[in-house]
Amino acid sequence: MGLTIVQAGDPVLRQLARPLQAGEITGSEIQDLIRRMQKAMYDAPGVGLAAPQVGIPVQLAVIEDRADYHKEISPAQLAERERRPVPFQVIVNPTITSTPAIGNAVEFYEGCLSLAGFTALVPRQRTLRVECLDERGKPKVIEASGWYARILQHEIDHLHGVLYIDRMRSRTFGSVENWKRFWKDKPIEEIRSELNAQASL
Ligand code: ZN
Repeated sequence: MGLTIVQAGDPVLRQLARPLQAGEITGSEIQDLIRRMQKAMYDAPGVGLAAPQVGIPVQLAVIEDRADYHKEISPAQLAERERRPVPFQVIVNPTITSTPAIGNAVEFYEGCLSLAGFTALVPRQRTLRVECLDERGKPKVIEASGWYARILQHEIDHLHGVLYIDRMRSRTFGSVENWKRFWKDKPIEEIRSELNAQASL
């Protein structure tokens, strides 16, 4: 049976998830969870899924941004977001080890499988460095920029009980349907000014 993605309001999304022991990661329980989360992410579809989103509060997330998903997005929007394909990967016990630099933040609309049907402008660091373990329990360092950096920040937030609604420009929050109808093709600067949701970073 497929995993169910829990929606906002479930307390599991607000807990600090438990770090995994290196030995646990290679065990059959976690390896099975990884495979099921990969499938759930693909079925959703989404570009990231954290274990708390399937009701399991451990510090594990899967990420994959397929070239397939970029077909509906204009080359200009892909370039502006620095969105490039990211191969399937697992992050365990991640910590962000770069210092947020002034002027390094960017704002784009973002969604979440646990807030199905909604979207908002969310400021995120454009680049970051993450230290974590991989699916074999081996340490790895990720240097990411653009959309990949955004996905990482979003998933790492999930492992700390944080949702994008805690960081969003709240005046831009709305349904995906209305985002498509009113905001999708407008420059971010224009949206901010129209909604009186100015950046304060
Ligand atoms: Zn999410």
